Amino acid sequence: MTHSPDGSPPPPVPMTDRELIAYDRAHIWHPYASMADPLPVHAVASASGVRLRLHDGRELVDGMASWWAAIHGYGHPVLVRALHEQAQAMAHVMFGGLTHRPAVELARLLVELTPAPLTRVFFADSGSVAVEVAIKMAHQYWLSRGETGRTRLLTVRGGYHGDTFQAMSVCDPVTGMHQAFEGVLARQVFAPAPGPAFGQPWAEAHSAEFARLLRAHRHELAAVILEPVVQGAGGMRFYSPDYLRRVRELCDETGVLLIADEIATGFGRTGRLFACQWADVAPDILCLGKALTGGTMTLAATLATDHVAETISQGRLGTLMHGPTFMANPLACAVALASVRLLLDSPWQQRVAAIEAGLRRGLEPCAGLGTVADVRVLGAIGVVETTRPVNMAAIQDFFVSRGVWVRPFGRLVYLMPPYCIAPADLDLLTAALAEAVARKEHFA
Ligand code: PMP
Repeated sequence: MTHSPDGSPPPPVPMTDRELIAYDRAHIWHPYASMADPLPVHAVASASGVRLRLHDGRELVDGMASWWAAIHGYGHPVLVRALHEQAQAMAHVMFGGLTHRPAVELARLLVELTPAPLTRVFFADSGSVAVEVAIKMAHQYWLSRGETGRTRLLTVRGGYHGDTFQAMSVCDPVTGMHQAFEGVLARQVFAPAPGPAFGQPWAEAHSAEFARLLRAHRHELAAVILEPVVQGAGGMRFYSPDYLRRVRELCDETGVLLIADEIATGFGRTGRLFACQWADVAPDILCLGKALTGGTMTLAATLATDHVAETISQGRLGTLMHGPTFMANPLACAVALASVRLLLDSPWQQRVAAIEAGLRRGLEPCAGLGTVADVRVLGAIGVVETTRPVNMAAIQDFFVSRGVWVRPFGRLVYLMPPYCIAPADLDLLTAALAEAVARKEHFA
């Protein structure tokens, strides 16, 4: 940057759209992206309802809800007001030695809504950190009981729990980042992917290998961690709630803690407020995030039972060893409180059921295509699994040309729109998806 003679930077000259994209391409990392040869990105100027407005004026109907988060769509006046009012009172204060109404009221609401045994709340700043905190709670629980050998976790294949190191260690060992970080990641115990598929009859055989591994490793395990009923970024699979019920029983039998990662599934996405409710089970530790703030800001929470919290607190360390700078950020807590209340005051069950019906109608015909391996729908989640990986650049261009925003990965082209989507917009999304996967040029 060139400075004026007195050393002050020159007044900012707004970048043209072309300069903005060029600067982004040269200087800014995007998720899972190369800096040498990044895929194109589109600049968004504003977003409202289910529409993203690009700098060039085009509007895209959003099929992604910004990765499961924007359940009310964009710019909802209730959330914007909550944010403004909180910004005027205070944007942030440290949480060490201080507290505030938004955090306390949000904690109380989460304790009321989540399964009854979960009563203690830790606010973290992202889903991955909430998972780290959950794992740390599990380790500290056993340390407090003098069991120092419980250093490992048991999980299922096909999972995804975030990008920090402990979270990565429990992601699927094939589609996750295990090969990339060989030798660095903690070595966890992996059971086969959970089954059967949602809606199929469960039998003891589906959990047999999980049960064997749990019993065999019980003395070195701190916890089991999994995503209840829906596995998200690890493969977008839906499995039988009976499997989850059996996991809870087996954890009780062996005394191993159960961590449920509801960061993606929480707040209605699967058709229940929390996916654990499909099986009527309560975990010992629960992770929430993503839709918690309605997609407005980053906030996550890790909830624990009285027993877990008290055991940790009575241990040698006496305290839970975690405390981020932006813990319980008041802006994020205020908007989360507004978002969860807005959800509860809305007919969200009917909305999710209507989206489920629209997704089935629009996507199930894809099952007949030679390019498609499977179509599955649960709640407001619609997945088309293709036989070959998609060509991201080509398929993304196609979606934008059709006026929709859909971001596939690998062999998974999927929709999880905001709950407020109108039927015509949902039809636009499913029609574009069906056309996209029918075209051979969209595959690698
Ligand atoms: N757990 C699950 C189930 C997730 O889907 C994600 C994010 N995709 C995470 C954890 C990590 O959350 P974050 O990206 O906010 O760190």
